[in-house]
Amino acid sequence: MSTTERRIVIVGDSIAGCTAAREVRARGHDGALTVIGADADGYYARPPLSKHVLKGDGAEAETWDLSDLDITAVVDRAVSVDTDRRTVTTADGTDVAYDALIVATGASARRIAGPDQMGENVLRTFADVRALRPKLDEARTAIVVGAGFLGLEVATACAARGVEVTVVDVDPPLQRLLGPFLSEAIARRAKEWSIEFVLADGPVGLTGDSVTGIELGDGTRTADLVVTCAGDLPETDWLEGTGIADARGVAIDEQCATTAPGVFAAGDVTYFRDASARAPFWSNAVAQGKVAAASALGVEPTCAPTDDYFWTEILGLPIKVVGPLPLQGDPTVLEGAVDEGSALLQWNHDDGRVTIVAFGIKKPVGLLRRLARDSAVSTN
Ligand SMILES: Cc1cc2nc3c(=O)[nH]c(=O)nc-3n(C[C@H](O)[C@H](O)[C@H](O)COP(=O)(O)OP(=O)(O)OC[C@H]3O[C@@H](n4cnc5c(N)ncnc54)[C@H](O)[C@@H]3O)c2cc1C
Repeated sequence: MSTTERRIVIVGDSIAGCTAAREVRARGHDGALTVIGADADGYYARPPLSKHVLKGDGAEAETWDLSDLDITAVVDRAVSVDTDRRTVTTADGTDVAYDALIVATGASARRIAGPDQMGENVLRTFADVRALRPKLDEARTAIVVGAGFLGLEVATACAARGVEVTVVDVDPPLQRLLGPFLSEAIARRAKEWSIEFVLADGPVGLTGDSVTGIELGDGTRTADLVVTCAGDLPETDWLEGTGIADARGVAIDEQCATTAPGVFAAGDVTYFRDASARAPFWSNAVAQGKVAAASALGVEPTCAPTDDYFWTEILGLPIKVVGPLPLQGDPTVLEGAVDEGSALLQWNHDDGRVTIVAFGIKKPVGLLRRLARDSAVSTN
């Protein structure tokens, strides 16, 4: 079948889905291309939501225009897929036929409230930020559950607005990803921002209905605002019965192919068959969007399906990371000093690979990639 006759359907309207749509056209496909997306706010980037839009400093969501791609845009939720008949069914009952399907439904915020408990605040979508902003305007105190990058970005936004903020987690800040050396540096800096960290000795529960606080081993704490940043869960309900998804998400290979013929997947919803967990970061979603698009067309991808660049902005510091995570032990300091909030750091892993971190220091990503590549040692 020529690619003109091939009907490509993408389910998911964020970075993985939109990248795939753009790549499908860039690779010369001039046949039918449908993007099914459930977000009424359209196509937009999530990273600025927690860094700028939440702060309310005038920044609005960064949106994308796909009007030049000649797509059929369906604003609805996909509720099921029949991989034998090759159709996706949307919530309004419409069947959309495909020859190749790209699953890009990402993830949603993991919630920790009880089944009947109302008012849990999370941050995943533009609608979540719109709901949070006025609450942040009113709050004098806040609790953030989760000391991962998202929890720390939310805590930063609170502190920047003069809100007294406590962050609660079972692990020290960002330790799971960035290791003890950077975690301790971040904790020291958080003190200067008057952010308190509380180590929980087990899973944190929410109290109140609507939510007003948290339950810890030694009692409860309350605040004007409680925000849960406790990870995310792959959006796979609509794939039930197809065998392509499990509790970890959708398993893919290096071509972003799933176990069903003609079905590919990209972004936060995926994990690699030979890896144990998802790697839900922006650069991976972009890379996999491109690879899934090429595979759906039956042409060679122009890039690998992984990209180990990750960034965040916390406590007034831009942090860029290139290379494998998590990090263990102490780094070599290539430039600057961590406690001055400006350092270039290198970790050497046992397998010869290298991770470079620009901690508060402005460096182009291309330079970090080059350093990581040139410092790596072949172990073969
Ligand atoms: C606030 C925030 C800040 C972040 N900051 C960073 C950062 O600084 N650096 C970084 O590397 N990563 C960051 N990330 C992670 C990054 O945004 C994600 O890795 C990326 O958005 C994944 O893209 P995706 O397209 O795979 O999935 P998603 O962004 O989750 O999008 C999936 C889309 O599919 C739609 N969808 C879901 N189910 C259905 C269905 N059944 N039918 C139709 N549509 C459906 C959803 O509405 C959604 O729009 C951040 C994430 C958040 C939430």
